[in-house]
Amino acid sequence: MPHVRVDPGKCQGHARCLVFAPEIFDLDDEGYSFVPEEHRHREQMTEDLRLAVANCPERAIVVKED
Ligand code: SF4
Repeated sequence: MPHVRVDPGKCQGHARCLVFAPEIFDLDDEGYSFVPEEHRHREQMTEDLRLAVANCPERAIVVKED
């Protein structure tokens, strides 16, 4: 199962990930993206997540298979 997170060292807060996958990503109080715990483990790779990864200018979204 894919596991998704945002690398806080790379995220610049464009929020493009939220445009493509609002069900997965959220913004913290400073405007940086993160994935809430309950959304980290995905059943499968979905198109919204694929688009978010492809459109993150900082390549900050990390998807790993568990
Ligand atoms: S698009 Fe990438 S860099 Fe921008 S907020 Fe989302 S994860 Fe962070």
